[in-house]
Amino acid sequence: MKIRLDRTLCDGFGICARHAPGYFSLDDWGYATLVGNGDVPQEDRAAVTRALLDCPVHAIIEMCVPASDVTAAGG
Ligand code: SF4
Repeated sequence: MKIRLDRTLCDGFGICARHAPGYFSLDDWGYATLVGNGDVPQEDRAAVTRALLDCPVHAIIEMCVPASDVTAAGG
């Protein structure tokens, strides 16, 4: 799983950082920044998916990974 964060959409709700603090950090105003390069290993997928689904403005986007890369990326 690979994600990206569209900071132009982020409205500072902070929900993502609550669900997956290892992937999202919040600035002083509560706006999120993606931690790392967006690669999410299988073991963190549930927490990051929860953050993605709960973001009220859909600022967290799952990137499409070519089928040939799925095995290498761990799904
Ligand atoms: S949940 Fe969405 S709106 Fe809230 S801080 Fe995270 S990315 Fe921004």
